[in-house]
Amino acid sequence: MNDVLFLPPPTGRGAGEPLVWAAMPECPMTDVTGTLFSLAAADALGAATEFKTPQAIASRYGPIFTDYQPGSVFGFAPGEATDDTQMVVATLLGYARKTGLEGVLAALREWLAAGPPDVGGLTGAALRFNAMDGGVRAWQGSGFQSAGNGGLMRIAAVWIAGYRGAELAHASAAVTALTHADPRCVYASVFLTAFLEALAGGQPYAGAAAAALQLTDDFDARAALLDAGLFGIDTRDAHTAFRDRERQARAEVRARVRSGLGGKLTSQSGFVLDTLEAAVKHAGAGTWHACVEPAVLLGDDSDTVACVVGAVAGARGLEVPPHLLPPLRLGHTWPGWQRDWACTEHFPAVVQAAQAK
Ligand SMILES: [Mg+2]
Repeated sequence: MNDVLFLPPPTGRGAGEPLVWAAMPECPMTDVTGTLFSLAAADALGAATEFKTPQAIASRYGPIFTDYQPGSVFGFAPGEATDDTQMVVATLLGYARKTGLEGVLAALREWLAAGPPDVGGLTGAALRFNAMDGGVRAWQGSGFQSAGNGGLMRIAAVWIAGYRGAELAHASAAVTALTHADPRCVYASVFLTAFLEALAGGQPYAGAAAAALQLTDDFDARAALLDAGLFGIDTRDAHTAFRDRERQARAEVRARVRSGLGGKLTSQSGFVLDTLEAAVKHAGAGTWHACVEPAVLLGDDSDTVACVVGAVAGARGLEVPPHLLPPLRLGHTWPGWQRDWACTEHFPAVVQAAQAK
């Protein structure tokens, strides 16, 4: 499946001692686990400011935002990451079942069945179909209009699970379309995971984006979704709509990536292309905090924008401020995860299980 299943040896571990991973920054396992921490910490910072305006955020929290804060509209406690990270972890738990896309869908449904505090509208509608083509059906049900960021926000999981190259693009398209089948959503995800791979490979920011855009331009997502069994007889109209719109969707992804690279930000709304542009703009800054803080302070869908920024910053190897790691939790309990679990304790095993063949 991939070429990065080389785990660092555990070190300093005697009988009854916790597992401690060697510090090997060049090791892919360390890179992807660091990215999971990075996106989770960014999401948890943004939890407090989600749906607020920049003015309300400034008056409540002040002009800088360096630690977890109360005030989440969904009742997440300081340090708790939201549905974005929860769905990344659920996807990894799905891959650990070793049944591919079916395992991912089953794990996402288990997360939903446990009643999370926040669920995106299209995400809930798609998963409730309890079918591989639920995302396609939900998109069809929206009149082919819905193009939220609920696929993009969790797609780093596919890269963290160890997919690379063409398999990464294929899996990113299919996993996105489990809930978000609009070609803008699908191609935004294909771009993002290719971007993560290029950045983790050491390419400079703009060069990595250009390489990922080239891959996105060359990729046939419709064929990938057909291969994965996401289009069928009952969703022929959706297949036609996807085919008719995918060229334009690729062009819009390209335009938004380029405008983000140029420093433009249209909005931090939940529209997938707004989130993509904002994330590309923010995540090129010099430090982890400089990437994430603007996403948090701008509010609106700040947790999701921050989560995507955190994925990119993590793939770049930027270090999460150490004080943000010990308190980090996920704000939901479902099969495979407990709300009071420390992420520092459990993330390495989740990643390892998702990656193991
Ligand atoms: Mg969220």
